[in-house]
Amino acid sequence: MRKPKVVIVGAGPSGSACALALSMAGQAEVVLLDKSCYPRVKVCGSGLSPHALAMLSRLQLIPALSKIHGRIRAMTGIGPGGGKMRLSTGRDAWVVPRVELDQTIAQTAVAFGADFHEETKGLELLRDPDGTVRGLKTDRGDFEADLVVCADGSPSRFSIDDTPKTTIRTLMGWWRGTSFPEEEAIFVWDERLHGYYTWVFPETHGIFNIGLTIPETAPDAKRLKELFQDLLDRYFADGLVGAEQVGKWMGHPAVITNKIGTVAESRAIWVGESARLVSPGSVEGISFALESGMTAAFHIGRHFGQKRGFSPLAIRGYQALTGARMLPKFWAGEGFARAVASPALRGVGGGLLSGPLSTVIEKGVKHLLGNAGDVA
Ligand SMILES: Cc1cc2nc3c(=O)[nH]c(=O)nc-3n(C[C@H](O)[C@H](O)[C@H](O)COP(=O)(O)OP(=O)(O)OC[C@H]3O[C@@H](n4cnc5c(N)ncnc54)[C@H](O)[C@@H]3O)c2cc1C
Repeated sequence: MRKPKVVIVGAGPSGSACALALSMAGQAEVVLLDKSCYPRVKVCGSGLSPHALAMLSRLQLIPALSKIHGRIRAMTGIGPGGGKMRLSTGRDAWVVPRVELDQTIAQTAVAFGADFHEETKGLELLRDPDGTVRGLKTDRGDFEADLVVCADGSPSRFSIDDTPKTTIRTLMGWWRGTSFPEEEAIFVWDERLHGYYTWVFPETHGIFNIGLTIPETAPDAKRLKELFQDLLDRYFADGLVGAEQVGKWMGHPAVITNKIGTVAESRAIWVGESARLVSPGSVEGISFALESGMTAAFHIGRHFGQKRGFSPLAIRGYQALTGARMLPKFWAGEGFARAVASPALRGVGGGLLSGPLSTVIEKGVKHLLGNAGDVA
């Protein structure tokens, strides 16, 4: 019997991890599509938490990526009232620019046999008269498939989750020649960011990226560029003296969640940010994208039948498995963002961070850096 044909739309970490895991297992004929030409830039802090590194290790990608990563070993945190704390992270986090991370995963999938079509935009899911998915319509023709994996990030054109979305707005840029400490991340929970933060991450080749995250409902989200400039002037002016900006500021919405919506039907399955798998509070999404891509591949190998697709039980199983693996981390992240935004903690003034806010921030940092299991 022929292998099932799986068409994956989107070659970010979720789609490429799914393509790689399926190809490694040799269980399917894999077609990976992306509307972009690779390697392509992606608006992202590119921070890889220890959890993300564990997922990349499962995909056997650490040796390839170890040549091209920045490292985070310490963190300076500034609370909403201006108090400061410095923490050693305990476990390394990496920064691998997305242009390189995504290319590496996709090309490794190709090396294992996936068929990668770049500059191919998915337009809509093709459905039989009874509604069953039978492939993908693209601007380069139709792709018939036994199963379509939707990995198109956010906002997802193919999502069937019609519950209200919680969107985080972002804006970021890149600088060369800064005097920020090496191997250190900076997070500032400025009160205008309503529980969210502005960050500095060390990339490779002497480049640092700086960005902000803010709920779209926060008043200052309507004046994002002015806010970003204010934050750069207020917190990062010293580190940016004499630095050169690389490229333009860019932004992209992130969709966070604290529950798992509809993420599978008989012949379609959703992974990564198209399934809203981004943690509130930290806006960490790469590790969850990788994990869900691999979880979907495993689920396809075990439960997808070419003739009947996924059974109703298998559909519920994927949803339950995704929830069990990710929701505790998402709830911890949401609790952290709420705590930082709470008026009681916001009142803590300048100087060294101490008292309840320092505990919240310390736990939050563990969450941001992937030790979320430690966060109560
Ligand atoms: C500013 C910012 C900073 C962030 N920083 C971090 C961070 O430091 N660490 C972290 O863990 N997470 C971070 N995130 C979250 C992270 O970027 C996402 O969660 C992650 O990229 C999701 O991966 P994905 O594969 O699901 O989707 P994506 O990475 O968005 O990939 C989707 C792919 O689908 C393609 N595509 C879209 N539509 C179509 C279509 N119609 N047809 C064909 N192809 C299509 C796109 O070209 C893209 O390549 C950040 C997000 C933002 C916005």
